[in-house]
Amino acid sequence: MIVNLAERPGASDPAALSGAGPQPQTGIGSGISIRDAVKRYGSFAAADHISLDIRPGEFVTLLGPSGSGKTTLLNLLAGFQQLNAGEILVDGKAIHNVPVHKRGFGMVFQSYALFPNMTVAQNVAFPMRMAGLDRATSDRRVHETLEMMRLTEHAQKMPSEMSGGQQQRVAIARSIVMRPRVVLMDEPLSALDRRLRESIQIEIREIHRTIGSTFLFVTHDQSEALTMSDRIAVMDAGKIIQVDTPDEIYRRPRNRFVASFIGESNLVEAEILRREGGALTLRTRTGHQFRAESRDEVTGRNVTVLVRPERLRLHETAMPGSIPARVRSALFLGEVLRIEVELDSGEVMLVRCPDRAGQVLPDPGSEVHVSWGAEDGWVLA
Ligand code: ATP
Repeated sequence: MIVNLAERPGASDPAALSGAGPQPQTGIGSGISIRDAVKRYGSFAAADHISLDIRPGEFVTLLGPSGSGKTTLLNLLAGFQQLNAGEILVDGKAIHNVPVHKRGFGMVFQSYALFPNMTVAQNVAFPMRMAGLDRATSDRRVHETLEMMRLTEHAQKMPSEMSGGQQQRVAIARSIVMRPRVVLMDEPLSALDRRLRESIQIEIREIHRTIGSTFLFVTHDQSEALTMSDRIAVMDAGKIIQVDTPDEIYRRPRNRFVASFIGESNLVEAEILRREGGALTLRTRTGHQFRAESRDEVTGRNVTVLVRPERLRLHETAMPGSIPARVRSALFLGEVLRIEVELDSGEVMLVRCPDRAGQVLPDPGSEVHVSWGAEDGWVLA
């Protein structure tokens, strides 16, 4: 999303942008507890009874489609928006009545929002000036932070002399120069090209490890969320659907929405025949039996099973437990082959196989057999 700082309540206060507020607790992030938070615009709930606990020093990403409420939740925490119900606690203390600039959070938005008439060093020093820190401390901290962001050689440049990626690194430097307890980032990399985004993602992770603040990061880019986060909160329609580590979210999504939003997914309709704890035996619509895993909360007889494309195997001849299929398309993508097959049920499955010496792309229309292991099928709730 495009954030226009001038439109944000409180954004006219420069201190609010920069984490100038209470003195930081050096290197120690805050614990954040969002409890049953509701934010309505008229009758529409942009945050619909959201609860989320973030551990001190954790890196949590809010991930979801456009309009799912990510920015709303971040703004509630920042203080740009007020709750209609519920509460937000930081280190156990309610922050509803604390104004934006007194929360002492570092913030970075998609637009770099640098002061155009100040040098890079002056921009980064700004929060320290606002907080009235002495010159020696300020100079030392600015120097350290510029080093951390590999900006030292640009210290005396004006923002207009810097590329988009460099300007955003200055904005990030400014947000952490006070070593705030909490750093909030709203789609900070979405204006940058892919390679630059990937390199700044790594820098942000390193900063997080170095300073130990609690980070709350908003993106709608799933690979960014998977790369950067300790945990991801997947949002849809003002609610958090699942909060988990990146591998849990990818391998064991709670439902169809999470499975489809993150990564590519094959969804197979099946009937449960037997259940032994989390291990299930199922039957496809075409009568083929296979096994898969599930959480205990999965109930009912007819379910949807997720199999990620890289977990599927293709065979030229039938194997025990394999399912016959016909190739619809086959593409060579460099490191992987991307093959679409259609089962007799009409269900289409995507297979991604790593490129191997001597591997030949199957012809469209040819008969193949697909299989997957018990641990490769995941039953969705
Ligand atoms: P995006 O990725 O597009 O930025 P988002 O997940 O950050 O989306 P929000 O900006 O939090 O979504 O918006 C959530 C919902 O609340 C949207 O439907 C949006 O139209 C609505 N909304 C946000 N701000 C306001 C407002 N000031 N007045 C009315 N509706 C609003």
